[in-house]
Amino acid sequence: KLKMIFNGNQLANSILQTLRVTSKIKPKLGICLVGDSPASKSYVNRKLKACQEINVDAEVFNFSENVEQDQLIKHIQQMNHDGILVQLPLPLHLNKLDIIHSIPYEKDVDCLHMHNLQRILVYGELCEMLPCTPAAVLQILDYYDVNVIGKKVTVIGRSFLVGLPLSLLLQKRNATVTVCHRETLNLDQHIMNADIVISAAGHPKLVRNVKQGAIVIDVGISQGEKKGRIVGDVDIDVVKNQASLITPVPGGVGPMTVCMLMRNLCNIWKKKQGQPVYINPKLSDAYLND
Ligand code: ADP
Repeated sequence: KLKMIFNGNQLANSILQTLRVTSKIKPKLGICLVGDSPASKSYVNRKLKACQEINVDAEVFNFSENVEQDQLIKHIQQMNHDGILVQLPLPLHLNKLDIIHSIPYEKDVDCLHMHNLQRILVYGELCEMLPCTPAAVLQILDYYDVNVIGKKVTVIGRSFLVGLPLSLLLQKRNATVTVCHRETLNLDQHIMNADIVISAAGHPKLVRNVKQGAIVIDVGISQGEKKGRIVGDVDIDVVKNQASLITPVPGGVGPMTVCMLMRNLCNIWKKKQGQPVYINPKLSDAYLND
């Protein structure tokens, strides 16, 4: 039987308080927003609100839906902000990877540049920047003192934004990780087998049955049947009778993701100032064993 439903807003707010900047000069985030999709706008607004809460500056640059690739890249190269991000998804005529790679990697606050992904591959959580959603998931596990060493963790989704980096970071924590995706056969078995299920597929009711007492982290975001409602990947009505911990959508991983973006921004800033950066204090000495 379900013991806990995670409250993402509460934990995010308490972490944001620890990130508050009190110095006169403060970091500045630059956000590029292409087009006017309501979802993207709402994500950008949440990021702006978080910047306000921790007292850092932010600036949004709006581009039309049909902006040319060169124009956007030129703009990014001229930005003097401490952290830079391009709100995803981008229209299909733009090459997402080329655009991300036009951000200087030390300013890549979303941690999506291939240089930063490579650093994750080698140094894992010892990096001062982590991809925000994977970092959010790890932070939730830490909040509940979940030890993943040797545990069976099934990650659903292998996107470069979530599933792929998250599976690497969990392996570095010595979990036994199974990565599932669109072509996976017998997905339900991989889910049922897991001590911890992390679903990042964007497919409602994908996770329908889990092992008794499993920990279930829902990273999915899709449109619900009711207009304007968002839902996760987990069929909460069923899974709540089996899991020991569930993260809801909305109000679970989402607010934590924005919070991790702010942590990245603060770490970029601290590194620039020669101050010690925040690194997960729970990492064991054996962290980089392999
Ligand atoms: P995000 O970037 O938020 O992770 P994407 O849409 O880029 O979202 O990636 C979705 C991932 O989920 C892909 O790796 C895809 O293979 C996986 N996926 C999508 N639908 C299913 C499904 N029905 N079963 C298993 N995996 C799925």
